[in-house]
Amino acid sequence: MSGKRLLISLAHPDDESFGLGGLIGKYVAQGIEVDYICGTKGDRGTIADEHLQKYGSVEAVRDAELNCASKVLGFRQVYKLGYSDSGMRGSPFNDDPHCLIQADEQAVTGQIVGIMRETQPQVVITFDPFGGYGHPDHIYMHHATTRAFHVASDPAQYPEFPGVYQPQKLYYMVLSRRQLRFFILLMRLRGVDPRKAGVNQDLDYVEILDNTLLPTTKIDVHAYSDLWQAASLCHASQVNPRTGIPRFLRRIVTRRQSLYRAFPAVFNGAKLERDIFEGVRF
Ligand SMILES: [Zn+2]
Repeated sequence: MSGKRLLISLAHPDDESFGLGGLIGKYVAQGIEVDYICGTKGDRGTIADEHLQKYGSVEAVRDAELNCASKVLGFRQVYKLGYSDSGMRGSPFNDDPHCLIQADEQAVTGQIVGIMRETQPQVVITFDPFGGYGHPDHIYMHHATTRAFHVASDPAQYPEFPGVYQPQKLYYMVLSRRQLRFFILLMRLRGVDPRKAGVNQDLDYVEILDNTLLPTTKIDVHAYSDLWQAASLCHASQVNPRTGIPRFLRRIVTRRQSLYRAFPAVFNGAKLERDIFEGVRF
């Protein structure tokens, strides 16, 4: 082991694979210990009968899929916070008292602080302030993880989790603006409104582009494109085989992982970082 540790804090079972599969594969291959915090059970996902019959409940399907992806990616540990999914803005699921966005923010931050103190990562990755595409659970995990990052070293905060600890770097996942512009163009060419995309027409790609932060860091993950795909395919109930992207296009899309370094702040004009462990002290 390299002594390097990375903590990834996201919302749903599948965010780790769809969002960061290549990056996780790359760092695990370098002997870095990677832990994953997953906020919800994925219990509001839309699931076809064939998947449901095998496991009995949506929650069980999503849990089995996360365990499969976790094995493929090589996480050291997965911390499942166990909240119910919230829906997109305006969804009736958001009134459910068990959903993540209804959870007490102090308590969720405390859970993440406890995991940071236990696993002692030098680097933490979560969502950007817009939650990638605006999902309320993503935005919630962004806030809770960012707060946890800044209070984990304060002994007066959450004394029930002993052993204060300060991770050194905090990153937000960001989408590539060039790829977003390309997708918007493709949608327009196919007669699809990019402001009403997705199965539920609740994805606004123009809003996503407007909210995407400029990356400070780009990680070359091209060698892990197949692993990214293998982990993503574990989430079979969430992948539509008919709309899967062709291999050559996937290889282009998954060539680099873009990130925004939130802490320590990056000054204007700084050159792009190529490794999230750059400058980390051991
Ligand atoms: Zn998600």
